[in-house]
Parts: sequence; C-alpha cells; structure tokens
Amino acid sequence: MTFAELGLSPKLLEAIEAAGYTEPTPIQAGAIPPALAGRDVLGIAQTGTGKTASFTLPLIERLSRGRAKARMPRSLIIAPTRELAAQVAENFETYSKGQKLSMALLIGGVAFGPQEEILNKGADVLIATPGRLLDHFERGKLLMTGVQFLVVDEADRMLDMGFIPDLERIFNMVPPRRQVLFFSATMPKEIKSLVDRFLNDPERVEVARPATTGANIKQFLVRLNSSVAKDKRAALRAAMNRDGVKNGIIFCNRKRDVDIVARSLQRHSFSAAPIHGDLDQSARTATLAGFKSGELRFLVASDVAARGLDIPDVSHVFNYDTPHHADDYVHRIGRTGRAGKTGESITIATPADDKSLSAVLKLIQQDIPELDLAGLPAKEDSAPPKRSRSAPKDKKQETRRAGTDAGEKSRKPSRRSSSKPQKPKDNDGPVVGFGDHVPDFMT
Ligand code: AMP
Repeated sequence: MTFAELGLSPKLLEAIEAAGYTEPTPIQAGAIPPALAGRDVLGIAQTGTGKTASFTLPLIERLSRGRAKARMPRSLIIAPTRELAAQVAENFETYSKGQKLSMALLIGGVAFGPQEEILNKGADVLIATPGRLLDHFERGKLLMTGVQFLVVDEADRMLDMGFIPDLERIFNMVPPRRQVLFFSATMPKEIKSLVDRFLNDPERVEVARPATTGANIKQFLVRLNSSVAKDKRAALRAAMNRDGVKNGIIFCNRKRDVDIVARSLQRHSFSAAPIHGDLDQSARTATLAGFKSGELRFLVASDVAARGLDIPDVSHVFNYDTPHHADDYVHRIGRTGRAGKTGESITIATPADDKSLSAVLKLIQQDIPELDLAGLPAKEDSAPPKRSRSAPKDKKQETRRAGTDAGEKSRKPSRRSSSKPQKPKDNDGPVVGFGDHVPDFMT
C-alpha cells in the first residue's frame, strides 16, 4: 500500500515524502480513506502508531478546499495536554507546507492575546486543550457554527483527566452536521458512550498496541526487597549506568517523586530534569526541547506529562515505580523502541508493587525477565532534597494539587460556576512552544 493509493493530493504526497515516510502505517491505511470520503472515524490506536498523521493528513486535504472566516474556525482538534496539542500543531505545520492554511494553538500557560489575534483573522484549524478552548468561547472570541471537522485525540486520557464533561459541551457546541475523527488508545465504557452519542456510524479502525506485541522493546524487571526510597534511587542509578543507555525517560507514579528523583540524579551528576503538570509551561517546553536536542539525557516524568510525547530516539524507559494502572505500563514503555528502533525498559518492583505488577503481567501476557544489577556501581545516595527549584512554591499548593497531575488542571463537571475568564498564568513570558522552532503564528 502506498500513500498515493490512499487518495491524497500531490501536495500532501510531497510533504509526506519530505517527512521521509515511505508507506502508511496500519492506522493511516485504515483511517485515511474513510476520513477523505467524509465518514466519521473511530481510531483505536495509541501514540507511536502514526495516528497523528492519520487524522492530520485527511483534515488538511479536506480543508484545502474553502477558506477561513473571522472567528469561525473550520476545524477543531482537541488534545488532552498542552504538549500533545503542540505536537499535533507541529505535525500540522509539517504536512501543510506549501498550503495556505492558518492554524491557532489554544493552550493554557501562554498568553490569550496572540491567540485571539489569530482567531480574529480566521483560522482553518484550532488545536486546543478543552479548558482553553472553552475559556476562549466564554470570552466570546469564538464561534463554533463554522466547524465542519472535529478531531478528538487521546480521548481515554481526557477521561483520566476529568475532561469528559468539557468534551460533551464541545460536541454540543459544534453543528450537528460535522465530521468527527475520534481517537483513543482504549475504550472504557465512558468513552464508548461518548462515541455512541456523538459519532455517526463511524468506521472503526483498530490497531494492535505496539508495546504489547513489539519485539523491539526488551523489557526487564529489577526486584527489590526494600521499598525504601533511598534503595530505589540506588537501583535506578545502577540501571541507568548499564551499557547501552544513551538516554531515557524515568517514570514515577507521583509528582512529588518526580522532583525528588530528578534532584537526586542531578546530585549524582546525571544530566536529568523533571517534567510534570505543576511546572510552568516555559519550564516544560525548555526541558522537552533540551531532551529532544540531546542536551539533556534523562527526563524524569509523570504519566500525564509524558503521555503522547513523540520523542523518537529514546533508548531506555525506567519505571522508578511499577505503575498503578497496567495500561500506563504499556504507554510508558512505548516511549522507547519507536519508529522501528530498538529499546529497553527497566522496571523497579518492590514488595509494595506486587499487586500492580500482577496486573501488568496479566495485561501484557508475558513474563518480564529479571535483571541482576549486582556489581553495577550505584553510588551512595544522599538524603532527598529539601526543596527543588522547580517544586511547587508552597506546601499548601503542593497538597492542593496532589493527585491532579494534569497538563491542564482537571475541570469540574459544570463550568457554570467558573464562567469568569481565568487569568493566564504566565502572560508576560516568552512564547516558547516548539523547541528551537517557533512557528510563525506564535511570534
Ligand atoms: P504518532 O503515533 O502520531 O505519535 O507518530 C509516531 C511517530 O511515527 C512520529 O514520529 C511520526 O513522525 C512517525 N510516523 C508517522 N507516520 C509514519 C509513516 N507512515 N512512516 C514512518 N514514520 C511515521
């Protein structure tokens, strides 16, 4: 199967060639033809499968006919986190080169002003997190009546983050005659119910979870008899000192540990930095850009912050904790071994992780070989830091936010009580969103 056989126009084929893709991935082969034909699509696929292009390409094709009107976007892409939205925007820019399509990225943590300017001029596509989109709508800066295409990316993650009521509102705001491209890695009942209510006879395209079948990821388990943080950090360092570790993402179950582990690694001279939902946007983007460029070797992350991040060259994933949700294990290790490369994952399991580990083994239906780290150097760790520079500013704030690890804060089911526009956090800061590439529309 070739991209040309999918029915894409010569301009798009050129952009695809320039991106270096030779043939469509299964989700692209399955989703692009019905999307081009105007049908609703339900894509069950996770990051790493090429799903972003499977909705971006047909969307660009459909948008290339027609023009944007002021304040009336023609299409809407909703993504759960700022990073994911920015990543979709990057993809959109890559594939729409040479076409005069305008795009606005509406994400929290960046100033409203420039975003409104683009909206006023008219945007062909809005890429947004649910909260920021509704904020703009409530400020009267947006009319949804022109939306012909609605894309929902990573719906199951939106469920985890409490965004389903927002998503329902968005579905109800766009005209009933619209095309919906809806993507989710899993189909819990809440998502199924959304699909049943808001999609019209969708073409269902399901692709295998790459991580559960991917032979290109070598998985290992490090069993510890102790659950003491100091011992876990020592084991982590030993694992990171293994041969062949070029770079990696270290996952922690709790945000607090993300900061502590990052700080401890820095003290032990590892090039590491934390990324989680409580860090401000410019810190998150700078960290991510550093990691992508290779300047930073290790990213210490929470699940939500790392979900959906497309970083093709990760040699290792380390699970400082066995994840509480077995699904997260699959997502985490899927950060490595991408785009045909090989990768390794090393999971630390303590007696406290027994239940989580059983759930993981049941889900992936395979054993994870144990790794003996004996003999590997793991320098003595020092006490956890008193406070990291990037940690939440005060204790109260930390407590309030505990458990809400989200790119956007989780929203209450009804927004009526909070209809007052929220003040953006870092209004005056520079807009940095794409590593060293800042798209025209943001400058
Ligand atoms: P995604 O699942 O959308 O996050 O994409 C994962 C990675 O696969 C990204 O780095 C894409 O650039 C890459 N990719 C998407 N489509 C293809 C393709 N047809 N051939 C090779 N790589 C692709």
